[in-house]
Amino acid sequence: MARRIDPKVGERVKELLATGLTRREIARQVGISKGTVRAMATGQWFKRPAKRPAKRRVEFKPPSGPLVWCSRCRANVQKPCVACGARRWKAGQNQK
Ligand SMILES: [Zn+2]
Repeated sequence: MARRIDPKVGERVKELLATGLTRREIARQVGISKGTVRAMATGQWFKRPAKRPAKRRVEFKPPSGPLVWCSRCRANVQKPCVACGARRWKAGQNQK
C-alpha cells in the first residue's frame, strides 16, 4: 500500500524543486524518499488518483457444460470438476 503523503508536502516539494535544490536535498529536508521526490519532479506523483479503485472481487464461476465422467473422482460432474480442483488445491497447500 502506498504511503499517504500530505498534499502540502507535494506543494513544498514543488517549491523546493523550483529553487533548484537537488532531489536528494529536498528528500532530506521534507522527510520523504528520493523516489517520491523523483515521482513528484516528473509529475507522476500528482497524477496518481487520490483513491485507489476498489479491489475487484474474483467471481466464482460455477462449472458449466455437459456432465462428464471425472476420471479422478469417478463422479458424473461438469468440468472442471470442483471436487478435484479443491483436492488439488489442498494438496498444493500441504506441500508448502
Ligand atoms: Zn473429480
